[in-house]
Amino acid sequence: MPQVLYVLGRGRSGSTVFAQALGALDGFFSAGEVRVLWDPVLTNGSACACGQPVPDCPIWSEVLARLDHVDQDQAARWQREVVNEFRLPRLLRHRAPGRWPALAGYRRVMAQVYTAITEVTGCRTVVDSSKRPSYALVVRHLPGSEAYFVHLVRDPRACAYSWRTRRHTGASGTVVRQHGAVDATLRWDLLNLGAEAVLRSAGSDRSLQLRYEDFVAAPRQAVDQVAALVDGPPASTAFVDERTVRAPASHALAGNPARQRSGPVVVQADEQWSSGQRAVDRWLASAVASPLMWRYGYPLRTR
Ligand SMILES: [Zn+2]
Repeated sequence: MPQVLYVLGRGRSGSTVFAQALGALDGFFSAGEVRVLWDPVLTNGSACACGQPVPDCPIWSEVLARLDHVDQDQAARWQREVVNEFRLPRLLRHRAPGRWPALAGYRRVMAQVYTAITEVTGCRTVVDSSKRPSYALVVRHLPGSEAYFVHLVRDPRACAYSWRTRRHTGASGTVVRQHGAVDATLRWDLLNLGAEAVLRSAGSDRSLQLRYEDFVAAPRQAVDQVAALVDGPPASTAFVDERTVRAPASHALAGNPARQRSGPVVVQADEQWSSGQRAVDRWLASAVASPLMWRYGYPLRTR
């Protein structure tokens, strides 16, 4: 039975390097953000991390060949209807698949996607760094597969710094919009609260919460902890030393360009924000996130 290991959290929380480290484990495949496969990846002709357009990539072309019966426009419409954070309460309440045809149809198609990925790659566990809570609740009840969730949390000030200063081209072919500290951190609140709702719904035997800062402090140990959740191999199969992972050729969809790296990848803390961030942005991010910062153990005062 395919397993989906789903990474929740706010974008710019270090999920790219985290997914790379997990994808280096035997039997694990880091697929990137699978939620955007139909739209915008396929509708826009975006490239895979290997550099090829997705329909020409050696992995995804095989996956898509097994899905050639799927009406891509229909799947994209279902995706747009269901994967929406405003639908989160309805997704959390929903118990009768037949009463929401788009959700039932979308789950059926996405179950086939993960099955095809495991068949083509020979890996049992698909690491999906889609992050969004609404899509997590789609994945949680896919017919014929098991889902596990890791909620990756990062200091909101670090996220706000990244959203303000770093630019890259997204899967839709346009530059991912930059956000100010308040805007970036309101979304940090929303996505972390949504992730917590998913974790409560999935239960502690299917989910865990991990701080980015704890992952980069002891990456091997953190990967061991996640691998144990899904009953996977120990992290020693992925690491060449305490913080260097041997990343395989990447075929991750969408996300940060750092996903294209392969070979030795050193997991280390990115703390540029602590010296580069404007004091006003740090104050605004702390003010907007303070209730959750306290809960996740981030001090309000910084050096
Ligand atoms: Zn590829």
